[in-house]
Amino acid sequence: MHDQLRIVLVGTQHPGNIGSAARAMKTMGLGRLVLVSPQRFPHPEAVALAAGAADVLDNAVVHERLEDALADCSLVVATTARRRTVPIPEYSPREAALRLVQEQASGQVALVFGRERTGLENEELQLCHASVSIPANPDYSSLNLAAAVQVLAYELRVAALEHAPAEADRATTIDELPASHEQLEAFFAHLAELLREIDFHKGKTPDIVLQRLRRLFQRARPDPRELRILRGIFSDTQRLLRKPSDS
Ligand code: SAH
Repeated sequence: MHDQLRIVLVGTQHPGNIGSAARAMKTMGLGRLVLVSPQRFPHPEAVALAAGAADVLDNAVVHERLEDALADCSLVVATTARRRTVPIPEYSPREAALRLVQEQASGQVALVFGRERTGLENEELQLCHASVSIPANPDYSSLNLAAAVQVLAYELRVAALEHAPAEADRATTIDELPASHEQLEAFFAHLAELLREIDFHKGKTPDIVLQRLRRLFQRARPDPRELRILRGIFSDTQRLLRKPSDS
């Protein structure tokens, strides 16, 4: 589900947190873990806390510099426990998840987490396109690293399950916006007319069939060019039907 999305942990101090983060990721269907200068890794404590997610640790990629971990990414979102004075857009967790899931249809994306004690440095934040903060208790807003990974991994999963696939598909398959309500209604009227002319309903009421066809095309959200092709087919069919037969 998330092959193009990597979770990046920068300068993690406790190997147990790396293991717990791997576990959090796997429960939400994420498998690509990238570690930037972890203080201790590999480490038995990481394996112990990963439980059944040791494969995520085995496949983890280690880099020395954050730049190298992000080199091929087209969208990078940083996580911060507190407001920073860095001029990058701030997303809500839900918005961040949606954007990452949508973008991963066409490119590599990353979600970056900081050190347990000090989070991400400002220079590291500057490498990111946007930041996201979990709206926690303002008086105690710093989650455990792996807990923060869990919350955001959950949002990624919800975004992937609920919204993104259709939108992502659209982004790569159409080059026009969906047809307007008016264009779609004209199309439905034309379709109904054609079905009458070819006697598709055979005396039965056309309502159910037309409702189903409406649902089909509303789900597909065709663009104006696609509707023109379909209406062209209808018109040609009608022209042939109306032509007096040769015999
Ligand atoms: N004192 C540090 C706390 C770091 S907590 C700071 O203020 O940044 C370790 C990491 O967990 C953070 O760098 C971030 O990646 C993540 N994290 C913790 N709480 C978070 C929150 N409320 N929102 C988003 N990420 C959070």
